[in-house]
Amino acid sequence: MCRSFTTTTTCTSGYGPANVGGVYRDAPALELKGLTKRYDDGTLAVENFDLTVPDGAFFGLLGPNGAGKTTLISAICNLIRITSGEALVFGEPARSLIARSWVGLAEQEINLDRFLSVRETLLYHGGYFGMERAEAEARADEMIDVFDLGSKRDTRAPKLSGGQRRRLLLARALMHRPRLVILDEPTAGVDFELRMELWRYIRRLHSEGTTILLTTHYLEEAEELCEEIALIRGGRLIARDSAGGLREHYGAASLADVYVKAMAG
Ligand code: ATP
Repeated sequence: MCRSFTTTTTCTSGYGPANVGGVYRDAPALELKGLTKRYDDGTLAVENFDLTVPDGAFFGLLGPNGAGKTTLISAICNLIRITSGEALVFGEPARSLIARSWVGLAEQEINLDRFLSVRETLLYHGGYFGMERAEAEARADEMIDVFDLGSKRDTRAPKLSGGQRRRLLLARALMHRPRLVILDEPTAGVDFELRMELWRYIRRLHSEGTTILLTTHYLEEAEELCEEIALIRGGRLIARDSAGGLREHYGAASLADVYVKAMAG
């Protein structure tokens, strides 16, 4: 089973670019202003999207397939060129090096390098973010311990179970101690036990001050974990509130009812 996080596991103070003398302390974790993305084939995935996520929030993005969630995440992580508008991470342009170092992404697809072992995956990631070798090694060992991957440290990705790959994805996303962790459907297709385990990791991370942006198709997961939820349809924001606030606004008994009403509207 998972080990508990220590304060140093995710603490953003006293380490690397996250600690910049408190200059960015008041900036929201995320600000999207009029964000529009039209892909090269003409698909308008996101249109004039405004969203602010406060520092330290646990925030959910909900919407049906094709709503634009992954496009938003890709814009925040500088993986795509936005068509117009602005994306700021802790007050800095998402494309800047410092903003990129503040974000940790666990993608929907399990995109692990098949030729790297668990430990090498983490070290490689640390190197990409400029960690010194000794520091990266210590952090990798810590992550391996936290995510209970000790018996697989020298095993390559294809020989890991699905659950172990999910855990490694999360460990990799946290390796460089990001201030904002983006989880794109982290529990898609995992069994009940691993889901509970991942929830524990994520909750602990949040309790230690990390901002979490979560996308999920499991409404009970959003209801259980997220302080605030944004509902997205057709690349537009249609509602944003706590689960309770959304239930009240839509006169719905559950978040599932909210979702059905909001998406039908
Ligand atoms: P899902 O829940 O299925 O992951 P999503 O909400 O993440 O969906 P996106 O992947 O952002 O949705 O897709 C939004 C729209 O943009 C869809 O119409 C999709 O087909 C389109 N799209 C995504 N990537 C590209 C691309 N590279 N080129 C063209 N269209 C794209």
